[in-house]
Amino acid sequence: MKKEARFWKALSDSKIQCSLCSHYCKIDNEKVGICGVRKNENGRLFSLIYGSCSSIAVDPIEKKPLYHFYPGTKALSLGTVGCNFKCKHCQNFGISTAGPDFSYMKEITPEMTVDLARQYSCQGIAYTYNEPTIWHEFNFDSAKLAKKNDLYTTYVTNGYISEEPLLELSSVLDAMNIDVKAFTNDFYKKVCKARLKPVLDTCVLAKELGIHIELTYLVIPSYNDSFGEVEEFCKWVVEKLGKDIPIHFSRFHPNHNLTNVPRTPMETMLKVYEIGKKVGILYCYLGNVPAGDYENTICPKCGNICVERNGFFVKNSGLKGNKCSKCGFSLSLID
Ligand code: SF4
Repeated sequence: MKKEARFWKALSDSKIQCSLCSHYCKIDNEKVGICGVRKNENGRLFSLIYGSCSSIAVDPIEKKPLYHFYPGTKALSLGTVGCNFKCKHCQNFGISTAGPDFSYMKEITPEMTVDLARQYSCQGIAYTYNEPTIWHEFNFDSAKLAKKNDLYTTYVTNGYISEEPLLELSSVLDAMNIDVKAFTNDFYKKVCKARLKPVLDTCVLAKELGIHIELTYLVIPSYNDSFGEVEEFCKWVVEKLGKDIPIHFSRFHPNHNLTNVPRTPMETMLKVYEIGKKVGILYCYLGNVPAGDYENTICPKCGNICVERNGFFVKNSGLKGNKCSKCGFSLSLID
């Protein structure tokens, strides 16, 4: 569904500059930006996907992954099409590379997102599956309504949103899982056709704005798995965000245009987990690995298992509110 977009300015000769994300695309008349879903029509910018939903499901919040945010709850999860990144290893390329004419699209309204969340006993809404930033106008309206109806709101994002829309969003957004896809600009340039710095800036600003954040780092053999790079990333998190920000190291499986790269060896996953711990990250997790302690939330003070996870099975019995039930240590967890 077409709707006039926000966050743009007119340039000369019917050109427009979109400022929703850090690409700041300059768009000629009748053309779309990098994301493929924002179009210049006679000197005005339109979102071509307001209310256009490609995917919808009820997911455990752990699937985002958000482990320190209402553990054990369910989120109505939805996404549209397009993306402002071009990741070679995209896990959802079926929708991220699709355009507004995608044949499985269903029109929805912000009211429907709230009604569906209620109908399926969800405690909140997750804007996910493809990059939610590029669906800003719809997500903002939906999230605003969700907050009025006591639902939580979350983004699963690449963190490329620019400052002004993030400021606006922060009034209605509770949590973000931000992908830090590597810790070199070279990776971002070659693999995602983007830049690292805006992503790091988003992490810092989101935290300052009071949004609960967790980070995901997908470990890809020979691309971003050097132990030095992982250590630099963890040190940056401790210094700029704090040691209590959860990091999810996720295991790579060959996908999309990186099918020639093997899946991440378990030894590498264990090593990056150790590096995170050594640097001082209090809550390191491993994703896409066989079940084990690496999914559990362990009290940094006494070692008690506060939240036990097995896949999406969650047991909170080691928690009292957001504190360890054994020693009373206050975990950075919203419950
Ligand atoms: S949201 Fe789309 S059109 Fe706007 S700057 Fe980003 S990629 Fe370009």
